[in-house]
Amino acid sequence: MQARDFPPTLWLPIATFGSALCGALFLTASRMPLGWGLLALGLYFLWLWYRRMRSALASLKAIKAYGEADWNDLPRIWSSLEQENIALKEQAYREDQLRHSILTNLNVGIVLLGSLRQIVTFNPAAQRLLGSSSRVLFKGTATDLLNDPESLGMMDKAFNGDTSAWSRDRAGRILSFYAVPLSIKTDASAADLGILLAIQDITQQEALEQTRQKFISNASHELKTPVTSIRVAAENLMDDGWIPPEGEGNIKIILRNVDRMTLLLNDISELSRIETGALKLEFISIALEAFLKDVIDNASPLAKYKNVEMSLEIEPCLMDRNFVSDPLRLNQLLENLLSNAIKFSPEKSTVLLSVRLENQWIVFSVRDNGPGISPKDSNRIFERFYRTQTARGVPGTGLGLAIVKHLSRIMGGEVNFESIPCRETTFFVRLPWETPKG
Ligand code: ADP
Repeated sequence: MQARDFPPTLWLPIATFGSALCGALFLTASRMPLGWGLLALGLYFLWLWYRRMRSALASLKAIKAYGEADWNDLPRIWSSLEQENIALKEQAYREDQLRHSILTNLNVGIVLLGSLRQIVTFNPAAQRLLGSSSRVLFKGTATDLLNDPESLGMMDKAFNGDTSAWSRDRAGRILSFYAVPLSIKTDASAADLGILLAIQDITQQEALEQTRQKFISNASHELKTPVTSIRVAAENLMDDGWIPPEGEGNIKIILRNVDRMTLLLNDISELSRIETGALKLEFISIALEAFLKDVIDNASPLAKYKNVEMSLEIEPCLMDRNFVSDPLRLNQLLENLLSNAIKFSPEKSTVLLSVRLENQWIVFSVRDNGPGISPKDSNRIFERFYRTQTARGVPGTGLGLAIVKHLSRIMGGEVNFESIPCRETTFFVRLPWETPKG
């Protein structure tokens, strides 16, 4: 870099030098105010000059850092910028092509909806699965795609920020929909909240699932009779005194395992009845307080056996109130939660069953002071047959919570839990206060 390359204007150093010189001359001629004034002006010009020089140096540094260039090198800088621009454009083009080819070849239908519920983009699989015309897909909105109340409600949920999933029969196929909220930037304006709709044809999986459910239902049903026969035969052997005292231990093992199998078969067939829709709910009006006291009474023998206290808490506004539900299923649901709570409770602790109203929901909760559920297990405990490490040595089938989950769902509600490991666990079952129609 050479001195002549500095661009800052020359008038600043000249003005600085001139003002300072004139100021000094006036001072020597005893013209004090004018002399000092000119000197101050000189200082001001000097400061301005310093600032200009500093910013010029910064610009030069930036340019040098860019390509070790000097002023004579501008054409080279320009061409390298141009090349970089071309490379960026090529990269954008490649990414666009990649996105396009992924969307085109994907078997899953993808539709992007903007915040005004307009269709922003879609892929061929979406068009094929939905059977919508191109006119609808290019110009339409969410309602043109799916206009049944459930789908609209689920899409609303996603537009409000919650992921949602549902399935629908459409032209003889079963389609599963998955709506994910996301930010869509359609132009230079701020990003809008839209949704990405993923659509999959699950007709085949559903057929397989039905075959699986039928098989489980038949197998568990068929196994019940031989298991009962084994129990009766083993009991007879004991009662008739045919077994020598040294053999009794083995008969007891048979009986214990037959009981476990019966429990398992009952749970499996119950779950399959719920899953296949064979279980029909029968809603009646239930006196809430009396019903819950019965539930507690039924759980008391197990609680006594485990030396655990039972407690019931009913929100005052629910005292003497009736609740429309299926008492058999509600009892089954709470019984499962209570028996878990008791099973996992330490001696002399208390299991609390409480009920309260929360907007349009009635919330049943079961709290215990057991080992809790660790975060790593929290996503899995509602799976069939999943049991945590802490359940080792505790009797159970691993199906109770799966039954609770399905029962809550068919009753129009949901189940979830909160837990502090090593301290407590509370399961919540939320059911609609108003009975679901149909
Ligand atoms: P199980 O017959 O084993 O109780 P569940 O399906 O009812 O089967 O429960 C699944 C697993 O969830 C249990 O084995 C246990 O590991 C865990 N679990 C359920 N309830 C509790 C609880 N109140 N405290 C701690 N762990 C629990």
